[in-house]
Amino acid sequence: MKSETHNWTEEPRIAVGLLQNASSVTIGLLDDFLDSSGLRFPAGEYHLDFGRGEITGPAGRSRLDQEWQLRPGSDRGRFSLQATIGINFHWQQNEMQTFPEGLRILAPGGGRGTVINDVSLERYLQSVICSEMNADSPAELIKAHSIISRSWLLAQLDPAPVAGPPAPGLADGEIVRWTDREAHATFDVCADDHCQRYQGLGRIGNESMLGQVGATRGQVLSFAGRVCDARFSKCCGGVTEDFRLAWGDQEVPYLVPVFDGPGSLPDPPLQDQAALRRFIENPPDCYCHCQDQELLAILLNSYDRQTPDFFRWQRRVSAEQIGAWVREKLGRDLGRILALQAVERGLSGRLQRLRFVGQKASLVVGKELEIRRVLAASHLYSSAFVIDQEGPAERPETFVLTGAGWGHGVGLCQIGAGVMAHKGMVHQDILAHYYPGTQLERLYD
Ligand SMILES: [Zn+2]
Ligand SMILES: [Zn+2]
Repeated sequence: MKSETHNWTEEPRIAVGLLQNASSVTIGLLDDFLDSSGLRFPAGEYHLDFGRGEITGPAGRSRLDQEWQLRPGSDRGRFSLQATIGINFHWQQNEMQTFPEGLRILAPGGGRGTVINDVSLERYLQSVICSEMNADSPAELIKAHSIISRSWLLAQLDPAPVAGPPAPGLADGEIVRWTDREAHATFDVCADDHCQRYQGLGRIGNESMLGQVGATRGQVLSFAGRVCDARFSKCCGGVTEDFRLAWGDQEVPYLVPVFDGPGSLPDPPLQDQAALRRFIENPPDCYCHCQDQELLAILLNSYDRQTPDFFRWQRRVSAEQIGAWVREKLGRDLGRILALQAVERGLSGRLQRLRFVGQKASLVVGKELEIRRVLAASHLYSSAFVIDQEGPAERPETFVLTGAGWGHGVGLCQIGAGVMAHKGMVHQDILAHYYPGTQLERLYD
C-alpha cells in the first residue's frame, strides 16, 4: 500500500549539482544543444567566465544570463566537464566526466556560478552505483545498492525529511557539528561523497550491471509508510552505528547498530574502551572482515583500493601536531595537547564526543566527522578508535590511535554487503540485515 506521503508515481527528474562556487568552467557539448527558447548551441567547447559574466563558444562571445538552461538536441546528447572527486578527502583527484540529459548554469552574480545536471532518477542511479561500487560487483549487491541509493535520494526530496534540523553552533568549551542535506539550496544533491558519488557516464560498466539496476526500477525501502533515509558507508568495522551518532538527535528506528555478521551485538558493548580494544585487536568473524584480495578488487573501484587497511588501522600523531590541527581547523588555541579523553561512544565504538585536554584549555569536539577531521591532515578513517600515548604520562609525545572501519558506519556496510552477496545471500537478506524492520516496495514502473 502506498501512503499519502509517497508522491512518486512516476520516475522523477533530479537536479544534481556538479560544480558550485566556480569562478569559471569549461564545458564540452558533445552534440548540439538547445536553450529554453529553442536557440541552437552547436557542439564544441564553451568557456564560462562568471566574473565577467561571459560565455566564449564556437560562435564567439556572448553574455551569460543568471540561468542558462540547455537540453541535448537528441537522446545521445552529452556534455563533459573537468570535475574534482573526493573533495577534501584523502582520495581527492581530478577527472574529465561526461553527463547525459539537461545542463543548467546558475550565475547569480558575485563572480561565482553553479553547474547542474537535470537528469532522470534511474539514469542518475546507473552512474551512482558504478561510482560507489565496481561494475563487476556481485549482482545482489548491485540490486541492494540500487534500492538504497534510490531510497536515500527520494527521502532527501521528501518535504518532511527524517534528517532533522541543522547542527547547533558553538557552545562554550564544546564544538558539536555535523552537516546534512540542508547544505544545498539550489539543487537536490551534489555529485560527491557528501551526498552520493555521481561521476557521470564514464563509470557505467557493462550491460549486465545496467540490467541489475533496472531490475529494481522504482523499488525503495520503506518504514511506517515513508521512504527510508537509507544511509550507507564503506566499512562498519564489525558493528554498524546509530543515526544519532553522526547526525541529528532523533531516533531513526531502522538506522540502529547491528553486528555485521550472523550473531548479535558484542557483550559488553563497545562503548566500553576495554571491550573496544579487544574487539579491534581480535576482530570477530564478521562480513566486512574480508581478507580475500580478489574479492575486494571486484568490490572496490581503483581509487578505493588505495585504502587497503580500512578494517583495522593505526595512526601515530604527535601531541604538537594535534594542537596545530585544533588551532587550524577549529580556531581554538589549546596549547600542546596533554590528553585525548573519550566522552561518549556509540555501540560500534565510534566516538560521538572527544575531549581535547590542552595546556591552556580543554575542548569537547563532536560529532564523528568533526573528530575525524581534527585528528588528521584530511580525515581519519573513522571515529571508532582506542587511544594510547607514548612519552611521559603527564606530557605525552605521541598519540597512537588504533581503529576500526571506514566511514560513519550508519546503515549498510558496503564491504560487508558485498561479502554477503558473494556468499550467495540475496538483496532482500542484505537489506533486512542492515535496515531492520523495513519493507521493500515499488513506487513506479
Ligand atoms: Zn551534497
Ligand atoms: Zn561491516
